[in-house]
Amino acid sequence: MNPFVNAMRQLDRAAGILKLSDNIQDILKKPIRVLSARLSVEMDDGETREFQAFRSQYNDARGPFKGGIRYHPGVTEDEVKALSFWMTMKCAVVGLPLGGGKGGIVVDPKKMSEKELERLSRAYVQAFHKYLGPTKDVPAPDVYTNGQIMAWMLDEYEKIIGEHAPGMITGKPLELGGSRGRDTATAQGGAFVLQELMDKLGKKPKKTTVAIQGFGNAGANMAKILHDAGYTVVAVSDSRSGVCAKHGLDITRVLEHKEKTGSLSGFEGADALSNDDLLTLDVDVLIPAALENAITKDNAEKIRAGVILELANGPVTPDADEIFYKKGIICVPDILTNAGGVTVSYFEQVQNAMNYYWTDAEVREKLEKIMVDAFHAVWEKKEKHGVDMRTGAFLLAVDRVASAMRLRGLS
Ligand code: NAD
Repeated sequence: MNPFVNAMRQLDRAAGILKLSDNIQDILKKPIRVLSARLSVEMDDGETREFQAFRSQYNDARGPFKGGIRYHPGVTEDEVKALSFWMTMKCAVVGLPLGGGKGGIVVDPKKMSEKELERLSRAYVQAFHKYLGPTKDVPAPDVYTNGQIMAWMLDEYEKIIGEHAPGMITGKPLELGGSRGRDTATAQGGAFVLQELMDKLGKKPKKTTVAIQGFGNAGANMAKILHDAGYTVVAVSDSRSGVCAKHGLDITRVLEHKEKTGSLSGFEGADALSNDDLLTLDVDVLIPAALENAITKDNAEKIRAGVILELANGPVTPDADEIFYKKGIICVPDILTNAGGVTVSYFEQVQNAMNYYWTDAEVREKLEKIMVDAFHAVWEKKEKHGVDMRTGAFLLAVDRVASAMRLRGLS
């Protein structure tokens, strides 16, 4: 269940079909560097605590490293490496001039005060600032990090270098140079991809039932966008609880309930449901939007959805992939589905460089074009090689990254 081992299995499969040279394949099997630091942070009680932090810079053949920072007690070096590899592939699938990176801190942010989180976030930048910057490596939010954390990190970075550099980080609040549409970009991009797939399958949103695991930035926004587009969202869950209603949940009211009570449980008119049960519901579309390894060979046989849309990174393991392929279940891979987030992050950097900002409509239109084009490019690869969508996406991405590496002189 090591996500980096899973990621390398995905790479090997594509590399074999592409007949990649041994040298390029070997280079793609290791990050260029993994930075690691123990961050000392003063807690509110005056004591100092240490936190393990990482930044993996995987590949920058196509442009500066790009990828989020995760705050979670389960962060490991291999998880960060896997996520930075997937970022490399994701940026290539949607054709962005960016490489792949990822960061993480082993911490439970729910147990920290606002001030402690601020000191931790500033400490991360103090530790790694030499390797960060608009033309070097550009972080963004990921699990349990948000616009406020990006703002502290930007402020710390600008204090250290003594000038403004808004393009050093994305997912910033609008007031500090964020992009319109960034908050909803991951989900919106996934919704564009789902719409293209539904068109291919000849299915209408109104006749499509959906279950979503994870109710954070990716999952909750996806629930709202699909609900507003007419899909029937029958179940949602977060780390603590889940709710389901056969005829569909009113997602606007679910969001209000979670905002008010801090929890999904107790939502009126819905039944309680465990995370495991959500995954095996009889729905048309299952959307894992929480963490890696949610669907493995142990529960894949029980999945009843016809389509799995990976909004989280790495939620389906390679063994589960094989089971789905044999059963004719379509799994739309993370490196395509959730690429809307990094795409609007890229738009944010472009706007920072121009110091001129686009409207919501401009962002949406540009995002739709990129996501729709990427969907069709992946579909074409899948058809041409007779493979699943994940392998199709990796064929496209690995080929693009390898081509940039060859142009730089590697063979
Ligand atoms: P988030 O912190 O906003 O939300 C995470 C959600 O997952 C929360 O609702 C949490 O309660 C839930 N969760 C955690 N553990 C769970 C479990 N065991 N079972 C069910 N739910 C659980 O994070 P996010 O930004 O929404 O990220 C979710 C996934 O999407 C991650 O895999 C992340 O890498 C991926 N992703 C996010 C973005 C982005 O722009 N935010 C972009 C691309 C990919």
